[in-house]
Amino acid sequence: MTDQLKVDTERLWSALEELGSFGRYEAPEANLFGVSRPAFSPADVAARRWIMARMEELGLTVQIDPVGNVFGRLEGSDPGRSPVVIGSHVDSVPQGGAFDGALGVLAALEVVRTLRSAETVLRGPLIVAVFTEEEGSRFGVDMLGSAVAAGRIPLAEALALRDPDGVTLAEALRDTGFAGTGLVLDAPLAYLEVHIEQGPLLSSSDSDIGVPTGVQAISWHELTVVGQAAHAGATPPRLRRDAARTATRLADRMFEYASDHQDHGLTATVGRMLLEPGVINIIPGAARFSLDMRAPDDEVLTAAEAHLSALVEEVHAEGTGLVCESRRTVRTRPVPFAEPLRQIVASWAERLGYRHQPLISGAGHDAQEMAALCPSAMIFVPGRHDGISHSPREYSEPAACAKAATLLLHVVRTLCEESP
Ligand SMILES: [Zn+2]
Repeated sequence: MTDQLKVDTERLWSALEELGSFGRYEAPEANLFGVSRPAFSPADVAARRWIMARMEELGLTVQIDPVGNVFGRLEGSDPGRSPVVIGSHVDSVPQGGAFDGALGVLAALEVVRTLRSAETVLRGPLIVAVFTEEEGSRFGVDMLGSAVAAGRIPLAEALALRDPDGVTLAEALRDTGFAGTGLVLDAPLAYLEVHIEQGPLLSSSDSDIGVPTGVQAISWHELTVVGQAAHAGATPPRLRRDAARTATRLADRMFEYASDHQDHGLTATVGRMLLEPGVINIIPGAARFSLDMRAPDDEVLTAAEAHLSALVEEVHAEGTGLVCESRRTVRTRPVPFAEPLRQIVASWAERLGYRHQPLISGAGHDAQEMAALCPSAMIFVPGRHDGISHSPREYSEPAACAKAATLLLHVVRTLCEESP
C-alpha cells in the first residue's frame, strides 16, 4: 500500500447523510438540518443498529459491553498484539448537529472500508468503538461510556443513573437490547478519535487539521447571594441588601479577571442566573448563579478559584449583611494527549501535505477518558461558521472530513503495521 492511499470522500459523505437521517430535524434557517439523538432514544438506537449492520458488512466482530459501548473488531494477522481503538459517539445533544461524534465513528468505518478495498491486512487488531452517552444530556454524566470502559466511573454507579423521567441506564440498556456482556477494553495499544473542532481556531487559521495537545481543566461552581427583599422605591440606599447587585458585581469581576488572564486561555461563563422573588419592583432577596471556568493550565484555574474565594470573602468583609456562598460541583484536571502519538499524527499530516496545528480542546471528549487506559490522541476537523456546534449550523466540508479520515487511516497503518 502506498502513502497516496486516500479514503473515498463521497462514500464518507453519504454515510454522514445516512446516519444524519436518524433523529433528523429541520431547522428554521433554510437548508439546515441537525439531529436530536439523546442516548438510547429511538433515534440513537436506530443509529447504533445502522452502525452495527455496517460493521457486520465489513466483517467486524461486533461486541457490546455492559454499559452499551459497541465495539467492532477487525482481527489482525498477529493475534498476540494489542488492539488499536478508533471511534467516537453517535448520541447527540437535543437539537444538535450531524457531525459531533458521528464523524469520528464514520471516519473509523471508512478506514476499515478503505483497508478492505485495498486488500490490506494489518498485523495488529483494530477496534471501531461507539461510546455510550458522550453528551451526558440524558443521564447527566458526559463521557459516560468511555469513563466506565476506562475505569473512572464504576459500572454499578453508571447503571443506577436516572434520566429526568426516572428511567435508569440499566433499564434503558435492557429495553433497547444494549445490555451487553461482551469485551471490556483491556490495555489497547492506542486510542485515536477524529472529531470536529467545535471552535474557531482552525477555520480562522486555514489549517486542514488540528492535533490537540490535550483537554483543558474545568471548574464549575454554584453561587448563592442572600440579601433582603424590599420595596424597590421606598428603600433608601443604606437599608438595601440587594442580592442582584452583589451577584452581578461578583460575576463581572470574574469576567474581568478572566479577560486579564485570557493569554493563559482562562474563560469564565455565567450560564444561569436566577433572582428571587423575581419581580420588577422588589429588590431581590436572593441570587443564584452558575460559574463555568476553564483553562489549559491547572495552576491558572487554581488561581482563578482562589480569586473567586477572595471575592466571596470580600462580600462578608464589607459588612453589608449580605451572605455569599460558593460551592464547587465539578473539578477536572487537564488531560494531556500522548506526545509520541501526536508526533505520529503530525508527521503523517506533513507527509500527506495537510496544513496542521497544535491546539487545546475546549470541549470534553471520549479520548480524555481513554487517555487513562492507553496513549490517546485526536484529529480535529475545521468547521464552518467559526466551528459552531451543538447546533444545526454545525458543518464541515466533505473534503475536510475526508482529510481527517485519510490521516487516521495512515496513523492506523503505522500503529497496527501491515502484514508483509
Ligand atoms: Zn462529541
